[in-house]
Amino acid sequence: MAKKQFKAESKRLLEMMINSIYSQREVFLRELISNASDAIDKIYYKALTDDSLTFDQDSYYIKVTPNKDNRTLTITDTGIGMTKEELETNLGTIAKSGSLSFKNENEIKDGHDIIGQFGVGFYAAFMVADVVTVVSKALGSDEAYKWESTGADGYTLEVVEKETVGTEITLKIKENTEDDQYDEFLEEYRLKEIIKKYSDFIRYPIKMDVKGQ
Ligand code: ADP
Ligand code: MG
Repeated sequence: MAKKQFKAESKRLLEMMINSIYSQREVFLRELISNASDAIDKIYYKALTDDSLTFDQDSYYIKVTPNKDNRTLTITDTGIGMTKEELETNLGTIAKSGSLSFKNENEIKDGHDIIGQFGVGFYAAFMVADVVTVVSKALGSDEAYKWESTGADGYTLEVVEKETVGTEITLKIKENTEDDQYDEFLEEYRLKEIIKKYSDFIRYPIKMDVKGQ
């Protein structure tokens, strides 16, 4: 399948980010969980004004699934999902989103932890993953799509089967190198620690489902 190219500015930002934010790479999980929460908010607000939709609290959650056998980490949400067009525009262009922008001022507490205060966005996933796969079905859509990228060299998009509305993001976690350790992002205790540190305020349940050895 032919790869589509990211916009030039996205490419530069992506490379810069991948190469320079190593000390704070755990923030990728904060970004993905915050996107999942935003997506559930969108379905929640829609239900408030759309009588054909009901919001049953129990059906809305975020799930984090580490799988050591496959070396994957999956973040699933039951949010509003993305159409094919939304996958292209929202994930294909960093500058388009709020990525790499500062979080609101009262969230910026500590000068020396400045990188950690950035809203680095979806692309933060590439700090810890070689391949990022996003499978999504938008509310009101019959079709689901799979967006996949290995980083700066573009992405592929294809139709796939997905029963339920929402988004499933799978990260193929990088192999350890002499200087950089990634195994921690497959460890249940470590993931819980990161979630507690950055995502304690999220108002939807964050479940964990551990797979593999
Ligand atoms: P921001 O959250 O600041 O807009 P991101 O880079 O984190 O920037 O995300 C870009 C966009 O991609 C979001 O605004 C949203 O439209 C879309 N998106 C990302 N993750 C999800 C998700 N899990 N469900 C639905 N849409 C998503
Ligand atoms: Mg975001």
